[in-house]
Amino acid sequence: MELTTKAYKQTAKKAIADPILQSALAGLQSRLGPATASLYENLPEGPDLRAKAHAYRRKAVDNLDIMLVTLAGKIRENGGEVHFAATAKDAVDICLDIAEKNNVKHVVKGKSMVTEEIGLNRALMDKGIEVNETDLGEYIIQLAGEKPSHIVAPAVHKTRKEVGELFTEKLGTPYTDDPPTLTRDARQALRKKFMAADMGISGCNLACAETGHITTVSNEGNIRMATTLPRVHVAFMGMERIAANLEEHQAILRLMSMGAAAQQIGGYVSYIGGPAAVDHADGPQAFHLVIVDNGRSRILADEEFREMLCCIRCGACLNVCPVYGKIGGHSYGSAYTGPVGAVVTPLLGGINEASHLCQGESLCGACRVACPLNLNLPRMLLALRAKLSEGDPRWNVKPKSRPEKMLFQVWSRINQNRKVYDILLKLGRLIQKIMPSSNHMIRRLPWPFSGWTQSRDMKPLAGKTFMELWKEHQGGRS
Ligand code: SF4
Repeated sequence: MELTTKAYKQTAKKAIADPILQSALAGLQSRLGPATASLYENLPEGPDLRAKAHAYRRKAVDNLDIMLVTLAGKIRENGGEVHFAATAKDAVDICLDIAEKNNVKHVVKGKSMVTEEIGLNRALMDKGIEVNETDLGEYIIQLAGEKPSHIVAPAVHKTRKEVGELFTEKLGTPYTDDPPTLTRDARQALRKKFMAADMGISGCNLACAETGHITTVSNEGNIRMATTLPRVHVAFMGMERIAANLEEHQAILRLMSMGAAAQQIGGYVSYIGGPAAVDHADGPQAFHLVIVDNGRSRILADEEFREMLCCIRCGACLNVCPVYGKIGGHSYGSAYTGPVGAVVTPLLGGINEASHLCQGESLCGACRVACPLNLNLPRMLLALRAKLSEGDPRWNVKPKSRPEKMLFQVWSRINQNRKVYDILLKLGRLIQKIMPSSNHMIRRLPWPFSGWTQSRDMKPLAGKTFMELWKEHQGGRS
């Protein structure tokens, strides 16, 4: 997975200072966050749908081996081909091989986070194959040469004016910032790409083992065109995205639509189980499903993080996260942004490499409340931080900051010795008198505590501890 997480702090600072981005993020969160919450409160299936869906996902993840073999068997029975890819490179190579065998020159794509994760577009273009994203948001950022900044709304950081200027530059259309006109311009440009494509590539929002199909959801109809018009359809699926049976699949799909776009159900839902039947006019001649592991087996093997595989990438956690709402998606430096990215990117791309992400979240718990499956992201963020503090050879994690660890060890010792604690407290009260302060707050602490006051003030130590006050109180009693 391509990571630019090292630039987290610089990118975040820039994002916070960008008023246009701040307004776009505030608009997104004020629109989608409350709308999704209101749908959860009025679930026609009853309030326990979310708990049930969590249990369905957990059951599927716990029985992945059986589910995937069942799915693969049914798709093969229907004339499709199924490939298991252990790594991102394997997944990319499988696609390149299919493209070469089918003499593919033009590809149209539906939005797919797993293909972002494995870097598929770059690999296809390096082979001289033209790749066109067809989701409007993805199309915009592809034209702009950027990365998605939200799992579901990839171009949320772009203004109408910026999109208008981009279309004029790249498509040669007259400038406008009118959304319906911009959408029409994109549709006209993309229609030609659909007609010329030899291969359609899609993700898979959810598969169903019982029926042997994959499901794609969109609100623009683009995925349906990308998967039916070209003669070859290749679908990529993270290996965990499966439900056991149709009843469970439907429950999860409903919640996915609510979490993703505050909808009862997505505008276009397609169930695909193989190539077109011989007596069907529509559909591809060949259907390939690439099931991607790329680090998921390691997550599956660790009970502490297995819950993360229940995630359906709906993006609801982004729509309420106060950190994402300030720093935007690009700061996360990977395909997966927001709270879900802060857990899944370290697990897939390396905990040390992506340490900023799990350390940057606030642990406020809003993500858990907004998640349709109530996934406990804060618990997993803490587990990742513990690994960074202690190190863990099973995950190749080296302790991040030895001085910080030593500081907390010393602090722990002090807390266990009342006399030492009281002496240091008295010393602290004396020293704080010479610290720069105003409005009864300390403005600047010396090293090694200076980081704390870089962006906030510090409340001074109280004149008396609770124990001292208690003694005085007891002493004053008759
Ligand atoms: S963690 Fe929950 S809310 Fe966030 S993307 Fe995954 S399923 Fe959706």
